[in-house]
Amino acid sequence: MTPKEVLALCRRDEIRAVDLRFMDFPGTHKHFTIPVKALTEKSFEEGFSIDGSSLRGWQAINESDMLVVPQAETAYVDPFMQSTLAITCNIQDPITREAYAKDPRNVARKAEIYMKSTGFADAAQFGVETEFFVFDSVRFDQNEHEAFYHLDSVEGEWNRGKGSTGYHIRRREGYFPMPPGDTLQNLRTEIMLKLQECGVEVEAQHHEMASGGQCEIDLKFAPLLQTADHILRSKYVIKNMAARHGKTATFMPKPIWNDSGSGCHMHVSLWKESQNLFHGSGYGGLTEMAMFAIGGILKHSPALFAFCCPTTNSYKRLIPGFESPINLTYSFRNRSAAIRIPVHSSSPATKRFEFRCPDSSCNPYLATSALLMAMLDGIQHRIDPGPPLDKDIYDLAPDEMESFPKVPATLEESLTALRNDHAFLLRGDVFTEDVIDTWIWYKQTHEAQALRERPHPWEFAMYYDV
Ligand code: GLU
Ligand code: MG
Ligand code: MG
Repeated sequence: MTPKEVLALCRRDEIRAVDLRFMDFPGTHKHFTIPVKALTEKSFEEGFSIDGSSLRGWQAINESDMLVVPQAETAYVDPFMQSTLAITCNIQDPITREAYAKDPRNVARKAEIYMKSTGFADAAQFGVETEFFVFDSVRFDQNEHEAFYHLDSVEGEWNRGKGSTGYHIRRREGYFPMPPGDTLQNLRTEIMLKLQECGVEVEAQHHEMASGGQCEIDLKFAPLLQTADHILRSKYVIKNMAARHGKTATFMPKPIWNDSGSGCHMHVSLWKESQNLFHGSGYGGLTEMAMFAIGGILKHSPALFAFCCPTTNSYKRLIPGFESPINLTYSFRNRSAAIRIPVHSSSPATKRFEFRCPDSSCNPYLATSALLMAMLDGIQHRIDPGPPLDKDIYDLAPDEMESFPKVPATLEESLTALRNDHAFLLRGDVFTEDVIDTWIWYKQTHEAQALRERPHPWEFAMYYDV
């Protein structure tokens, strides 16, 4: 859509308000609303002023003014707000008019530009599987010193004390159950249809393996920037549809101990002149270029985790036994490897590999950009990924296990890895030193340290009577 077409849509659909949205630095949606008459063709160049100092990780108070500039191609009629058009915005410096280096969307735009400049590819396609939990309710008390939570769901065996339907999904048997055991079927279909109305194509929806309301919605593959926009939009739609049903959705990677966590697997392929560059005749039907891309991802994985698994909770998901990746390996079919080559993707258009490590607590613009930069580094430097792993990693003997590099065990480990390994992200000015430093500082002080310093409820269980 062009600005003219957006304005015509506003007239045609009797739009009365325009909701301007952007992604903050850690990765959540932000928005404010203007009357429709304030949106003119000029707005798409001049933007609107906001206070950048009130947003996490952005500007200092003495240089707080920033511009948000609507991007016409992202406009859609919002189904949850009255007569409202939603538009995603880029962030600019009001004086220099330069794109803001710490705007995640800007990082993603630069990643696509850099990829084209290498001459290797002109498009990076991403198909994402978003997993999440839907609960009947969540209660948590939180103050400066302590936090307690309680999750309710009529579905799962883990909380069968609550008013029961008798159809409980047993632990780790939540994959594809029929209603009435699957109580969320209609909600997921409504979400799927609503996403399509909002311009996000869906491949499929289903219940996932955990007991207690774990869902999955798979988005159709699209170029990097559009995929990141779609992830944001789908989280918004999913949370609001759940709220309409009196429920609550969470993308937290591991809300329940000893049950499956939620990932955000990313299926990737690089394209040039409408040809899929990963479709070939090597291992798993991939090309040499795809193998080098895998080599780049495995080499830089510890640092990549700082963007792809960027919360303290991410590392509670990355443990053996729950289909989450634990070793940095690749494999044809095997779901226990960090990278899997899906067996059914034999046609040229769908050939790809799946990076299984990311979860939905990531900032999708930064995670997809970092992943692309690691792949390009692998291709540029012809990085050999080593031999594949075709056994179930969870069944390996301890000494065999030792031979594979492990995923980082904590957020702090990943942040240290990023501190030591980020030259590949700085190419083409895609990530700047400022972005890397601010990310490490924010995640370290506001999340890793904030958790480490607080007594945990389980410490009371273990140590109260010492
Ligand atoms: N829930 C698993 C994860 O944490 C993945 C299950 C699947 O293969 O879809 O990544
Ligand atoms: Mg899944
Ligand atoms: Mg998957």
